Amino acid sequence: MRQIGKACGHFFICSTRVRSGSAIRGFVRHRMAAQRGGPALSHGRTSAFSTCPRPRARSLPMKSTVSDLVVQRSATTARGEAAVPTRLSVARTREALLELKKATDRCRECPLGARATQAVCGEGRVRSAIMVVGEQPGDKEDVQGRPFVGPAGKLLDRALDELGWTREELYVTNAVKHFKYELRGKRRMHKTPAQREAEACHHWLQDEIDLVRPPALVALGATAARVLLGRQVAVTKERGRWHGDPSGRPVLVTLHPSALLRGDPRQRDEAWQAWLKDLGIALPRKAKD
Ligand code: SF4
Repeated sequence: MRQIGKACGHFFICSTRVRSGSAIRGFVRHRMAAQRGGPALSHGRTSAFSTCPRPRARSLPMKSTVSDLVVQRSATTARGEAAVPTRLSVARTREALLELKKATDRCRECPLGARATQAVCGEGRVRSAIMVVGEQPGDKEDVQGRPFVGPAGKLLDRALDELGWTREELYVTNAVKHFKYELRGKRRMHKTPAQREAEACHHWLQDEIDLVRPPALVALGATAARVLLGRQVAVTKERGRWHGDPSGRPVLVTLHPSALLRGDPRQRDEAWQAWLKDLGIALPRKAKD
């Protein structure tokens, strides 16, 4: 952080909002500009730090090393600029993902952060060929701090097992990092995140994608598909096919496992087979070890 300050001369302004994801992304752009040898970002509209008043910045604590880690990745900036073509080692990627989780935990960019127990980021193989993206953590995920550990996760594990894959071979995460729910008595009932909440959370997911760099993604359900493809997606019509995200990365769209759990029990077998067929496009069936 100090080196960056020396390099670009805007360190104290930058350090104010590193706790938030937009600040991390802004910081990435800022650092990249400095690394390219040109002037760092002018603190104009596009800078995440443009609203940080300098006097207050000096009074705030310096933040984590996440920026230093994240800026070394090969990424595409929010403005579509080519990024520094550096690939982190697996160990550094894991470290960066941990820092990202801590930063996500502190995020309050939408109302969900204040109500949930903790943020739930992804987990799995950091050099996975496939990243599976669900909607948001559920009740169990919120308590345990891990993705897909509830009933939907168990169904996903069953499907992976049927196809000859294990969870450890993939990277599994969610589009929205905090649990959205409504209380019914003492029960916390899942509530679909609003579009604005999913959009607010998108940069965190993008940070994970930029760090893990999966060649392809699987979007489970409409929220993940919309966030990844940047448009409304009619999942029942567009499922079982590859689509391109704005950067050209292939995204396979299919149902979220919770849709199967909620579905008509009489059609459950048929729905299960159709889902396996969809998943099998991204995760070709292989013999179990
Ligand atoms: S859901 Fe996403 S944007 Fe909203 S507070 Fe949590 S991490 Fe931040």
